[in-house]
Amino acid sequence: MFDKILIANRGEIALRIHRACHEMGIQTVAVHSTADAAAMHVRLADESVCIGPPPARESYLNVPAILSAATIAGADAIHPGYGFLSENARFAEAVEAHGFTFIGPTPQHISMMGDKIVAKQTALELGLPLVPGSPGPVDSVEEVIALGEKIGWPVLIKAVAGGGGRGMKVVNQADQAAEAFSLARAEAKAAFGNDAVYVEKYLGRPRHIEIQVLGDMHGNAVHLGERDCSLQRRHQKVLEEAPSPALNAAQRSRIGELAAAAVRKLGYRGAGTMEFLFQDGEFYFIEMNTRLQVEHPITEAITGIDLVREQIRVASGAPLGFTQKDIVFAGHAIECRINAEHPETFVPCPGRVTEYHPPGGLGVRVDSGLYTGYSMPPFYDSMVAKLIVSGTSRNECLMRLRRSLEEFAIGGIDTTISLHQRIIRQQAFIDGDYDIHWLEKLVGLKK
Ligand code: ADP
Repeated sequence: MFDKILIANRGEIALRIHRACHEMGIQTVAVHSTADAAAMHVRLADESVCIGPPPARESYLNVPAILSAATIAGADAIHPGYGFLSENARFAEAVEAHGFTFIGPTPQHISMMGDKIVAKQTALELGLPLVPGSPGPVDSVEEVIALGEKIGWPVLIKAVAGGGGRGMKVVNQADQAAEAFSLARAEAKAAFGNDAVYVEKYLGRPRHIEIQVLGDMHGNAVHLGERDCSLQRRHQKVLEEAPSPALNAAQRSRIGELAAAAVRKLGYRGAGTMEFLFQDGEFYFIEMNTRLQVEHPITEAITGIDLVREQIRVASGAPLGFTQKDIVFAGHAIECRINAEHPETFVPCPGRVTEYHPPGGLGVRVDSGLYTGYSMPPFYDSMVAKLIVSGTSRNECLMRLRRSLEEFAIGGIDTTISLHQRIIRQQAFIDGDYDIHWLEKLVGLKK
């Protein structure tokens, strides 16, 4: 097992990884930009190294600085968290080339899944169902139109290197194709430095259902059930729940077993997530994330399995400590992502936190780097806290969530707490009756 792990991230996820390390008796090294010198992830870590100025490309994305920090601190392994360098195959390769263990899958698996077309081809070979669409990149407007005529409008143009919902454009009919095609390519180029795009049938009212998987280096693989992440704004998840209110037991075990079998065939190691759209009883694979997800705690809440601990164990070469039949799913869990944003305009609101009082009690978990007096820098993601609530039933979970949101006090900055209060009052949400477009209709983005 490792003695010391460098955490190449910031905020709540850096704290989350630190906590798993300390429970396992592993020392932690935090890295931080000059803007994060007083951050909680730095204060709690055993050691910390400043790796550069505030812009992420000069600090949290600065590979030489991170590798130097690991060398100076004498770390054995590096955990990338999510975002930043977590799905960068070249980083994973550099980490291993410098003699550290990368806590994640192999660079080959990261690059395979980072290219959406290769990922879809792989998924097809692994026997996973796909959204109908172009088998490869699409190079001209004529091709988009031909596909629209063939699979039926509307279609969605997506970036091959996509992530975070960027570079995605819906095309309702042929005469919109030219504009959408050039916009999608320009957005993809700006976001990923790669303007390749592909086309998929645009599903009208799907749910986003994803399966948590875990594999080890000994050929074992399991699934830890699904998460329903259909509540999204601009393709970004806002609230997630497990299990999904939309699946029955047969659908649940079918997709879970398919995902676990795919992971086993791939020889994939570590934690990963297979994302699907689900409509009219059918699943369609859209992508695989080769890292820990923001919403992993709801899976932990219903399985009792510490996913970060498993990532660390698997990376050290240990076999999974359980088989599929040992995994027991119990109760219900919901996560609310709380952002430092105006709850109606969604304008980010960094600044000084004058008051911080998180909710507590049975079944309530808050993952956050906030504290009273903390000054939130404007350079990074606006998510400042995750509220994870669990209960024996969905109804108990909803009542507890309402109570927890009432208790949560964050002063000095705008937050989306009141947006979550609004969501959980809606009858459709209480009934579990929502798709990926529901939230945007509620907040007025879509008619
Ligand atoms: P990214 O990697 O940018 O997050 P994804 O492929 O994971 O892209 O898609 C993000 C979200 O976009 C999905 O959760 C879903 O809400 C929406 N989406 C993706 N593909 C489709 C599709 N074919 N039809 C309708 N919505 C889609």
